[in-house]
Amino acid sequence: MKALILVLIIVFTHSCIKTKPTAKAKNLNNTITILDSTLVSKFSKSITASDFKRRLSYFASKDFQGRKTGKIGQRKAADYLRNFYKSKNIAPAFNDSTYYQTLPESFLPKGIGTSENVLAYIKGSQNPNEVLIISGHFDHLGAKDNVIHFGADDNGSGSVAITEIAEAFKLAELEGYLPKRSILFLHLTAEEIGLYGSKYYVENPVFDLKKTIANLNIDMIGRVDKRHENTSDYLYIIGANRISNELHLISEKANTSFTNLVLDYKYNDENDSNRYYYRSDHYNFAKQDIPVIFYFNGEHSDYHKPTDTADKINYPLLAKRTQLIFATAWQLANKTDFLTPNSGF
Ligand SMILES: [Zn+2]
Repeated sequence: MKALILVLIIVFTHSCIKTKPTAKAKNLNNTITILDSTLVSKFSKSITASDFKRRLSYFASKDFQGRKTGKIGQRKAADYLRNFYKSKNIAPAFNDSTYYQTLPESFLPKGIGTSENVLAYIKGSQNPNEVLIISGHFDHLGAKDNVIHFGADDNGSGSVAITEIAEAFKLAELEGYLPKRSILFLHLTAEEIGLYGSKYYVENPVFDLKKTIANLNIDMIGRVDKRHENTSDYLYIIGANRISNELHLISEKANTSFTNLVLDYKYNDENDSNRYYYRSDHYNFAKQDIPVIFYFNGEHSDYHKPTDTADKINYPLLAKRTQLIFATAWQLANKTDFLTPNSGF
């Protein structure tokens, strides 16, 4: 996740935010039914703590040198992600089979060079031009004074979570259960230096933004913060109700149906001084009026430090949180209609 200092200037640019459910939204709650419960339960079982431990221990190892945008470690991480999708026979989102969307040097701050987002997708069976985007950044801070910042939680956790979700949808496909809409697995670069990967995607979308049902963005979901040290499994949900309260209701229902995490809305408060809503890639989608959810574990003492390492990840909790995102994604990829925007009430 991006450091706070960079975002203060954009704090008040999104003016039409609503957080209170309306009376009509409450009625909507009764109309939401969970689709394909048995299938969701079945395929979410492929999302496991042991998979996470194996993949994240490597992704956050010294081999990737902290994945700094434009540096060799970031390119190696992009290559790792691309090879994952190739090995699972999950298609690139471009016809040229590179899996890369290259950000030109001119788009990035001086001295960075080029960098790349990594995009893979599963094609929808009924509405292939409509898409659900599951995103997370894979860049981190690199090495400072020769000390590697491994970024296991930030955002190795989200990067590997996307691959786990993709694998679960692929297993469903192999058994004949394709999603109705397409699902884009979007690994973003250059987040830590200013949300450039997501900015570039929304300016150069592969799927029409108007046909993008929602963006589920994952940034730091492998740890436990101080506030929850002595409590049960939890996850912060940020932004879900701001553009479409229907998205918030689906997220809630997916949780009570499958995962029963404590969903904490503390940081969804518009007055929260941390301003997390503005600090990761979903914000660039929200600015386009695309409903978003930002999944987040809160900050901890290793945030943006070399000590954000893979051995400190809570793997069972990381798997459970990812199962919630998978269950929510399944609903969004298969529901009949688009999400009702709040302005429509
Ligand atoms: Zn960060």
